[in-house]
Amino acid sequence: MQLTIKPYQLEYKFPFGVSSNTRTHTQSIFIKISWDGFEGYGEACIPPYLGETLEESLQFFEKAKPILKQQSYPCSIAEIIMELDELDENCNAAKAAIDIALHDLKGKIENKTVSELYRLQTKEEFSTACTIGIDTVENIEQKINEAKEFSILKIKAGTKDDKALINLIRKFTDKPLYVDANQGWKDKFLAVDMIAWMKEQNVLLVEQPMPVNMLEEMAWLTQNSKLPIIADESVKRLVDIEKIKGAFSGINIKLMKCTGIKEAFQMIELCKLHELKIFLGCMAESTCGTSAMAQLISCADYIDLDAPHLLKNDPFSGINYKNGKIILPNAPGIGVQPKRELVAI
Ligand code: MG
Repeated sequence: MQLTIKPYQLEYKFPFGVSSNTRTHTQSIFIKISWDGFEGYGEACIPPYLGETLEESLQFFEKAKPILKQQSYPCSIAEIIMELDELDENCNAAKAAIDIALHDLKGKIENKTVSELYRLQTKEEFSTACTIGIDTVENIEQKINEAKEFSILKIKAGTKDDKALINLIRKFTDKPLYVDANQGWKDKFLAVDMIAWMKEQNVLLVEQPMPVNMLEEMAWLTQNSKLPIIADESVKRLVDIEKIKGAFSGINIKLMKCTGIKEAFQMIELCKLHELKIFLGCMAESTCGTSAMAQLISCADYIDLDAPHLLKNDPFSGINYKNGKIILPNAPGIGVQPKRELVAI
């Protein structure tokens, strides 16, 4: 019996807040890989800034079909993913969708969660940050109110005046903050002063303060920073970790950047070896993609897996949020179920 793959599209909206004027549509493609009555689900989340398109992902799934058709069960996910990786040097989100679906399928066949497949503990609950995007003063206040169950907030910074932004946040909450500067700071001396000031404002870490092409300045900044500096845009995949050695204190690992659970786990192992902090993040995945990453949650030093909390019309059930903590489902695989009928593309 062969593995078969089918793509589906379900619309959902991001972020939350009916009054938010930054509401946008995020595109995801969902896939189902089937084998002998078992079904594994995966998601490719492709927000515009990722640089992948819906069409490219669909073409990639077409190219993947013959490779999956050659497979039966048991199969090596690692070998399939390696073969898929050679089809196209991009399409990381599409590759992640297939990796997630294969893990989900394997877990269902073996009646184990993906955490159990990787021999990770699953019983504890883990706090996640909730992201507050750049917005109007009214909307920022509303978003902070709507995130009241979360104990840590992640602030999208990199604005013209980030001190003013943090001061504004501090009018509404004294919760600890993660600050994502999104490559917004270009002067390492100003950046090091900003970080020292932010530490006094109960900021716990800064993500990607400087542009990807300023690696030397980043290394200086990390050596002189009073807070941990986390790479996001500077590290997509496993091979990137060696390139940034010494320039960051940790890495934000996202399934849509790194092609899925298998490579995310390899990155986690390499981070441990290099004593780099492990930040598990997401793009704008629904509960399908986020539940996949949540299977690795016990490996994380920092967690920002809040996307489903911010969604309208989430098409899947899976992980839940309780008092700002992620509750993993008990179901095998990644533990998700579609909430409505999947529409074939
Ligand atoms: Mg970021």
